[in-house]
Amino acid sequence: MHIVLIGAHPDDETFASGTIAKYVDRGHRATIVHATRGGKGHWEIHSDELREIRSREMTKAAEILGAEVMFLDFEDASVPQGDVLREAFVNVYRKLKPDIVLTFHPQVSRDDHRRVGEAASDASLKASLPLHVTGLQAHRPEPDIFFFGAPISGQEPDTYIDVTDYMDVKIESFRQHVSQWHEWGKPREEQGDYLERLVERYTHRFRELGRKSGVGYAEAFIGRPGRKYAHDLLPSSR
Ligand SMILES: [Zn+2]
Repeated sequence: MHIVLIGAHPDDETFASGTIAKYVDRGHRATIVHATRGGKGHWEIHSDELREIRSREMTKAAEILGAEVMFLDFEDASVPQGDVLREAFVNVYRKLKPDIVLTFHPQVSRDDHRRVGEAASDASLKASLPLHVTGLQAHRPEPDIFFFGAPISGQEPDTYIDVTDYMDVKIESFRQHVSQWHEWGKPREEQGDYLERLVERYTHRFRELGRKSGVGYAEAFIGRPGRKYAHDLLPSSR
C-alpha cells in the first residue's frame, strides 16, 4: 500500500505523521507531498534561503518517519486556487499511484490548507480518467481520501488511528522544523520555549483524540462520504 500525505507547507504532515510512521513500520510506502517549501514563514531569513532550510528540515522530518518527500514549488501563502493546483495533483496521483491520500479537509480555515484540500480531493476523480491526457497513465482505482484538520462546519472525525506506539517518532519528526517553531512561531521574548510548548500542546491534543477513541494516543480523520470501505486499508484503532 502506498500512502500519500498532501499538505501545503513543511510541518503540515504533523496532523498525520504518527499514522505515516505506523504504516511504514508495517511495511507500507509513504510519500509526503507539500505544495510549497514554506518560503514566507520567518522574521529575518529571506525566502530563497528559508525555502532551502525548510526543505532540509522536511527531509530530516520525513526520514525519521520513514517517508519520501516531494515538493510542488508553489509559493507559500499564494497557493493557487482551482485548475492549476488540481492539475498538479492529478499528476501527483498518476506518478505516485497512491492507495490512500491523507490531506486537509476542504473546509479548514487557512487559505493555503483549504485550497490544497479542495484540489487534492477534486483531482482524484480526474486522475482516473484515461481521456484526460497529461502524459502520465491514468491511475485507477481512484484514491481514497481521508481528511485531517478541523473543518469550520464542525464535522467530527469518523476515523481514529491508534498512534500510541509512534508518539515518540512523531514528536522527534516534528522537532526538526526548527526554523518554524523554535525561531518564527513565537514572540521574541519567549525564544527557545515555543517549540517545547507546542510539543506539550500536541501531546495533549493527540492524547485527547486517543481518549475519544479508547486508546492512548490517536490521530483523527474524516472519511469521504460513501468511501467507508476504505477503513479496511486504514483500519480504525477499534
Ligand atoms: Zn501549513
